[in-house]
Amino acid sequence: MLRTHNCGELRLENQGERVILCGWLHRSRILGGMTFIDIRDRYGVTQLAFDEQKNADLCMKVRSLGREFVLQAEGIVRERSSKNIKLVTGDIEIEVTDIKILNHSKTPPFTIEDNTDGGDELRMRYRYLDLRRNVLKTNLELRHRLSFLIRNYMNENGFMEIETPFLVKSTPEGARDFVVPSRMNANQFYALPQSPQTFKQLLMVAGYDRYFQLVRCFRDEDLRADRQPEFTQLDCEMSFVEQEDVLQMFEGLMKYLFEKEKGLSFGDFQRITWENAMKYYGSDKPDIRFDMKFVELDCEVKGFGFKIFDDAELIVGICAANCADYSRKQIDELTEFVKRPQVGGNGLIYIRYGEDGIKSSIDKFFNAEQLKAIAQKFNAKTGDLMLIMAGNKAKTRTALSCLRLELGSRLGLRCGNAFAPLWVTDFPLLEWDEETARYYAMHHPFTAPKPEDYSKLFTHPAEVRANAYDLVVNGVELGGGSIRIHNREMQNDMFKALGFSEEEAKTQFGFLLDAFEYGAPPHGGIAFGFDRICSVFSGAESIRDFIAFPKNNNGRDIMLDAPANISSVQLEELNIKLK
Ligand code: ASP
Repeated sequence: MLRTHNCGELRLENQGERVILCGWLHRSRILGGMTFIDIRDRYGVTQLAFDEQKNADLCMKVRSLGREFVLQAEGIVRERSSKNIKLVTGDIEIEVTDIKILNHSKTPPFTIEDNTDGGDELRMRYRYLDLRRNVLKTNLELRHRLSFLIRNYMNENGFMEIETPFLVKSTPEGARDFVVPSRMNANQFYALPQSPQTFKQLLMVAGYDRYFQLVRCFRDEDLRADRQPEFTQLDCEMSFVEQEDVLQMFEGLMKYLFEKEKGLSFGDFQRITWENAMKYYGSDKPDIRFDMKFVELDCEVKGFGFKIFDDAELIVGICAANCADYSRKQIDELTEFVKRPQVGGNGLIYIRYGEDGIKSSIDKFFNAEQLKAIAQKFNAKTGDLMLIMAGNKAKTRTALSCLRLELGSRLGLRCGNAFAPLWVTDFPLLEWDEETARYYAMHHPFTAPKPEDYSKLFTHPAEVRANAYDLVVNGVELGGGSIRIHNREMQNDMFKALGFSEEEAKTQFGFLLDAFEYGAPPHGGIAFGFDRICSVFSGAESIRDFIAFPKNNNGRDIMLDAPANISSVQLEELNIKLK
């Protein structure tokens, strides 16, 4: 070993010991006749001290060393005269007797500090330097601990980790696939898996009744802060279970993670049906760290000659407690907010329940009595502000949901160290798409309808509910799954409802339909976004910095400069002609 200790472990108890440390030159400073270097590794920082009077040559040598040089320092541990309480090694320093340069370093393009001067792009290009910073190191340590805890829990509960292939077949459902041309099969392509869904179901047919995998998945989608083209799932499947069994098992997992990592314990997680989630929060992933539920107003406000209300499919509002003193400017700001294209609202109506009575932007149409009745519907008290939107049902709900979150943030109700887990259940099985004028599976085509709704599959498809569930924490969808279809007839019906011909279903999913004829057990499962679990546990919004080598928002790896061109020889082998 080139070192006796790491840079984070020496304490006063080690005083007098001769030690050897290796690490990177973090910072150096000269104070009179003394030179100090902070040497850094994964474990921490230790101060090296050089006394000009004792060893002038050594002192000269270290003054020429640059930031991020790799050093090996030998010396004696001694108590520091001015201690640094911010450092765990801050009571001691090493009186260095010998120092070796293990490697030189160019001056790094940004400082390796918690608050670095490097921009996003630069840090992505030199990701290996960015990874030296505490922020990223802490994130990756959290990720490691969580993956370890997950494997532990799954193992304790009898789950087997089984790997499934990365070179699979493209299927039209779901997101867009990444495809890989096959050299040996001209003009044919593999796809990278969006999830191991069909494989884990086949594993159930094979009898591996408790499966899990921490697995990379690939989706060629437009990117957002909480999305990466390749990301990691905790993918799970169980046989001989009903929905309740799956919920219990994975509620258990989340409680285990919260307890081990955060020291937090929870009672039973709250549950809400999809229908109520949409009605009360306008979202299938509500942040329930704060209340501010939607209040629907149709009966109270229609028929008073106010066209916006009279023409609306839905009139719905929220009540912001103690916000009646919001200024005109603040309300205008909120109105601008809801009108943004990403939010999609067409305006905002307010009712102030002030000390001096009720005032609103619709005074022309509603008298004090009527406004009071509306306020009552909101359960508003003096000091509250009611904000109302009207229009198309789905759009209005989405926009008001954005406003609810915005207000929650402004009012400090969404702080990072509170956790509010929630199961959303009873999702619709199918979702209508205007553009292609057909139904799509809301979860995926292998999700089972609720038995009591099955008979409506062809008569009232939109009303069929699924045995599907999501786990939401703080408004982030951490995982989702379902009880699966396990017999061929029902799976055939599902494909039919999705508009597949028998032939199409056979070509695309024949292997699964066949398997269902060889004794498929009842089964169900769930998959969690592992990167998201990490970001939510540390209160961060983006998953990017919980991945060692992520892509940027254009799906590029800036460090590798990928994607990139390939040689004409490669293209020829793959039978690809570029335009
Ligand atoms: N495979 C599904 C997904 O990736 C999860 C599941 O149903 O287990 O969303």
